[in-house]
Amino acid sequence: MSEIMLFPNLKPLFREWNNTQPVLIAGPCSAESEMMTLTTAQALHKMGIKIYRAGVWKPRTSPDSYAGPGGIGLKWLQRVKAETGMLVATEVAMASHVQEALDAGIDILWIGARTTANPFAVQEIADKLADSGSDVTVLVKNPVNPDIELWLGALQRLYYAGVRRLGAVHRGFSSFGQHLYRNEPQWQIPIELQRRASNVPIICDPSHMGGKTELIAPLSQQALDMGFDGLMIECHCCPVQALSDKEQQLSPAELQQVLNALVVRNRHQPSDELAALRRLIDQCDDELIEVLNRRMELCRQIGNLKKSQNMTVVQTRRYDEILERRMRQAQELGMDPAFMQSVMQVIHEEAVREQVDILRAKK
Ligand code: PEP
Ligand code: MN
Repeated sequence: MSEIMLFPNLKPLFREWNNTQPVLIAGPCSAESEMMTLTTAQALHKMGIKIYRAGVWKPRTSPDSYAGPGGIGLKWLQRVKAETGMLVATEVAMASHVQEALDAGIDILWIGARTTANPFAVQEIADKLADSGSDVTVLVKNPVNPDIELWLGALQRLYYAGVRRLGAVHRGFSSFGQHLYRNEPQWQIPIELQRRASNVPIICDPSHMGGKTELIAPLSQQALDMGFDGLMIECHCCPVQALSDKEQQLSPAELQQVLNALVVRNRHQPSDELAALRRLIDQCDDELIEVLNRRMELCRQIGNLKKSQNMTVVQTRRYDEILERRMRQAQELGMDPAFMQSVMQVIHEEAVREQVDILRAKK
């Protein structure tokens, strides 16, 4: 368990953000033309959206896919900013992107999933930001593979470079074959990231996670229910004509519907009732640990007995019986048997490890 605070002295993600309301970033996957960039921005501005996203350099998996307009798109984002007052965000993947984006006055840079997986590229971006001395906001998407250390490492590289407006984005993880999600969410990873980097705000990108418009609402609600600090959602003035990520982009009207239905929960004011329930949970955990300790003590005694009788540690039949009995019991109590299976497996693994140690010990 790491007790040291990894990212001390962070500033709010944006000067205007006080962390009481979730951050909402919306805009197209890619800025495709000046007209489409401005039309989408005007529609979102009318809806009260304050932060506009659009990729100008698109890291495409296939060389045959649309790769964004390049640096010219920054001019369109400058117009969005001048005409609507929205903050503007774009993706950077190398030092030259950072330079151009900062020169254009872009407010928020994000590092895409493919780039986070490449420490050389992240370091190059971090070095460029350090040289610039800029106060720009940088969001780091999770790497394409479920590797929390890579994600944390990228955040650390930026922090060491002096970036103080720093956030993380969970956009799910890719895998082979067809799945319900384009990039499977693995919620335990952002939860662990929050445990280890508790003051780094974390945003969910349901668009790249779901890959389909119908998954945006449930994923957004799930992220908010879990206490995420905000959402980044792809929105295009005319999704059927989108040059990239067509299936996952909402029209402004569809986005409005999703937003209307979202329930924003209270993230920062634990009530007395909650505090009382948490005390009860703590008592349960105390009891759990005492029971586990008693169980482990018995396992050690069994280990010594097995040693004295020169027996092997694992008796598969006995393990099967334990698993089956406890899974059934869990089901009868209304718990998920698969959950009980995982719990019993972990306990058994530790018991086997201890008993093997006992068998191997000299005395
Ligand atoms: C994007 O946000 O447009 C993008 C390319 O996302 P990701 O890096 O999550 O694939
Ligand atoms: Mn996209």
